[in-house]
Amino acid sequence: MVTNTEVTELGHFINGEVVPGKSGQFSEVFNPSTGAVIARVPIATKEEVQNAIATAKAAFPAWRALSVGKRTEIIMKFRQLMTENMDELIDMICTESGKTKEDAKGEIIRGLESVDLAINAPHLLKGEYSVNVGGHINAYSTKAPLGVVAAISPFNFPVMVPLAITSMAVAVGNSVILKPSERVPCSALFLSELWKEAGLPDGVWTVINGDKDTVNELLVNPTVEAISFVGSTPVAEYIYSTGAKHGKRVTALGGGKNNMVVMPDADLEQVANAFLGAAYGAASQRCMAISTIIPVGEETANNLVRVLADKIEKLKVGPYTDSAVDFGPVITQQSKDTIIGFIDRSLEEGATLVCDGRNPDIAKNSNGFYLGPTLLDNVKPGMEIYEEEVFGPVRNVVRVDTLEEAIEQINAHELGNGVTIFTNNGAAARKFTSEIEVGMVGVNVPIPIPVGYHNFAGWKRSRFGEGHMFGPDQVRFFTKTKTISEKWFEENSESVSTFAFPSN
Ligand code: NAD
Repeated sequence: MVTNTEVTELGHFINGEVVPGKSGQFSEVFNPSTGAVIARVPIATKEEVQNAIATAKAAFPAWRALSVGKRTEIIMKFRQLMTENMDELIDMICTESGKTKEDAKGEIIRGLESVDLAINAPHLLKGEYSVNVGGHINAYSTKAPLGVVAAISPFNFPVMVPLAITSMAVAVGNSVILKPSERVPCSALFLSELWKEAGLPDGVWTVINGDKDTVNELLVNPTVEAISFVGSTPVAEYIYSTGAKHGKRVTALGGGKNNMVVMPDADLEQVANAFLGAAYGAASQRCMAISTIIPVGEETANNLVRVLADKIEKLKVGPYTDSAVDFGPVITQQSKDTIIGFIDRSLEEGATLVCDGRNPDIAKNSNGFYLGPTLLDNVKPGMEIYEEEVFGPVRNVVRVDTLEEAIEQINAHELGNGVTIFTNNGAAARKFTSEIEVGMVGVNVPIPIPVGYHNFAGWKRSRFGEGHMFGPDQVRFFTKTKTISEKWFEENSESVSTFAFPSN
């Protein structure tokens, strides 16, 4: 386990063991709560990635040939080990990401939903069968694994996202190569040890560490059949276009700019409480975090801002070791500086400051990357703070006069990950859910993240390619369909020759 006092040199996980990096190049891993460097993660060279791919390829035929029931046994064992090692995993997530313990636990539990769905692979892999489609021919389809597939994950969910984009891939018989974020590599290596202990054959699960150059080899290597990516929108677009150009199946989920619409009939106390966690939880470093609250009507806006300001001032920022904190630091000093820059420029553009989190008390006595909660009012479309995803605790109030205006504004934004409406009016909710151009929609639910057995993905520039991060669609994404038409001749049956295109 990585502690605050030692700097661990990490490796890759290839062919069932941790191996040191060969490049001599490293990236520093921080404890964001203290600012200390806790580990150095190697940046894999092209040759190291090629070797890892070759190992994964070699492991594939035997894994594919194993019965789906036997594969499932290993996944069940992995799930059991995850729960047995939950405390250590929580500690690791907190140390390398700065999340609170409660939040880290929540992420693991949501990640386990994907493992649970993968345990259902035998059921989900069942194909289709039609008897006597014509001429005593039976037709059926099967789902075959693709081969070697790659998963590339972001820093903000060190465990949940890797589990969400790999569990089903393993279960349906692929060899999987995970390239975790270089900011949070410890958790992914820990998962590797659990897969090994669960009995996964060597080579079926690989973790290759590194940055964009490491990713590039995965995108172009002909052995890699599919890429499942989760990260920021510009990188998602690049991954999609490069991977697709090289003949790969790609799903690339990008960033979000998620809105909470508040109708005049909503209970503002309930709204404010829902907003706080959804907006500032995990220091707002969630793709589904609410960025913008949109009260409908001047009176709703004035009352809401007053209630919010009072509650936001009471939020507590600090290290995960303090169980009373609401959220922790952002991931790096660079990220902190970027977020402060966004706030400064928004004020020049005309936003007004309701709560200022640029210099919280804890930042005066700690080298951790802390920011307090900031709330900006009078934000408008066209302002940078409205248009860009800001991955830190800065949230906007955008005032509108009508529900139609709110819908139009949200639909005009280039991102479409999540959205929610708070109202007691069924007709307003129905209009909203049917007209809104966003992938995941809530009604009186602050963060409408689907449960693990429903599909998860945004619309517009929040996703490139076809496929979902978790849910049953993963089976389709990580398999290819084969359709078989089969006929058996009975003794003395007549054989017919026809030159016409076969029909029933
Ligand atoms: P990021 O895009 O910087 O990095 C994601 C992964 O891509 C990392 O593994 C990184 O090493 C790699 N990478 C970075 N630059 C690259 C490049 N130029 N070429 C190839 N690979 C590259 O994202 P991040 O900062 O780690 O994570 C935060 C972002 O992820 C936010 O935008 C957030 O909204 C998004 N996210 C989206 C979802 C979703 O479901 N849509 C979920 C979680 C996070």
